This record gives sequence, structure tokens and C-alpha cells, in this order.
Amino acid sequence: MSDAPLVRRRVLLAAAAGIVAAPLLASPAHAATPKIYLDAGHGGTDTGAVGNGLQEKALTLDIALRTRSYLQNNWTVSVRMSRTTDITRSLAWRTDDANAWGANIFVSIHINAGGGTGFESYIYPTAGAATQRLQDDVHAAVLSNARSVAPVTDRGQKTANFHVLRETVMAAVLTENLFIDRAADANLLGQATFRQALAVGHAQGIARYFGLS
Ligand SMILES: [Zn+2]
Repeated sequence: MSDAPLVRRRVLLAAAAGIVAAPLLASPAHAATPKIYLDAGHGGTDTGAVGNGLQEKALTLDIALRTRSYLQNNWTVSVRMSRTTDITRSLAWRTDDANAWGANIFVSIHINAGGGTGFESYIYPTAGAATQRLQDDVHAAVLSNARSVAPVTDRGQKTANFHVLRETVMAAVLTENLFIDRAADANLLGQATFRQALAVGHAQGIARYFGLS
């Protein structure tokens, strides 16, 4: 007789567990949706580098918007951008915004200047394994896609004490996509086909990092 109430209680507990389990089972898929922060370098009063009739701020925004589109068209992801128009955002605003949103990764898109040629990427000098893997994935995918359009020099995977790499609390990578003051590079950057290839490269590298099929 004394067992009966115990059995009854176990059934009730199991039923209660079932009720609780339903929303818990539904939540992991949502929680696992990657939160991707895309930072289009410069903007507004800050043009970034200029050369050959091009402005860095316009190129970075175009590539970032194309990256967002490709990500959203191909995978279930949550994407937030530091800007979607030509507005001024301080470096502190960008990293504060990404940190407050709880981004899983931070990808900052820039165009280089100073007389070189090609593509390079940066992470913070003391970054951990996850950040190194993000750099590996993004670097390889951008180069591969860019080279499907034109020969592009690989300037390597580098480290630097940049604000957006230092002040972000998640894995962060910054890409320098060719040189605006190099005629051949600028010629490529002026072509939508090439900017799309750069964007697809960023998106595919990000997808690979998260293990998205
Ligand atoms: Zn820049």
C-alpha cells in the first residue's frame, strides 16, 4: 500500500517533466542559431582610404550588405550590422553594440591602402583557438572566391592590436580586401562581380566556422 502513492508521484513527476521538456527541446535549435556581427568599416564623415575614384566606406558597406544577403539566403543565421547606410559610427560604438547584442563572432570588413596589393586578415595577438579557426576559415574562403575572378596575392594571416579586435568579447577577425590606391586592385574593387566574390567568401568562411552545411 505504501508503494501506491510513490508510483503515483513518479507518474506525476514524469508527466511534469514531459511538459517542461517540450519547450526545452524546442529551444536548443533557436539558441544554436549563430549570431553574426558584420562591421562595415568607416562610414559617414569617416571615408576611410580613398583612391582611384573609390572610397573605402562605400566598398566596405557594399561587401558587408552582400555578405549579409548571402548568409541569410543560404543559412539560418542572425545577422546584425554596425551600419547599413552611410553613417558615422565610432569604434567604441561598434564593439559596444556587438558585445551588448551577444554576437558569437565579429567580422570587420576593410579595404587596404599604402601601396601594396592583395588580401590579408587580422586577429588580436593573444586570441585563442576559436578566433584562430575563424581567421583560418574566413581567410581561406575569401581568397578562394576572389581568385575565382582574378589573381589575388595572399598577404597572409596576421595579428594586430586593433580596437575592434581588442574590445570585442567574442571571436573577431578583420579583413583587408585589396588596396584602394593600387590601380589593378581598385579596378577589381570597382566591379560588382568581384565584390560579390569577396562577400560570398566572407559568408562561406563564416558558415564553415559554424559548421553550417
Ligand atoms: Zn579601414
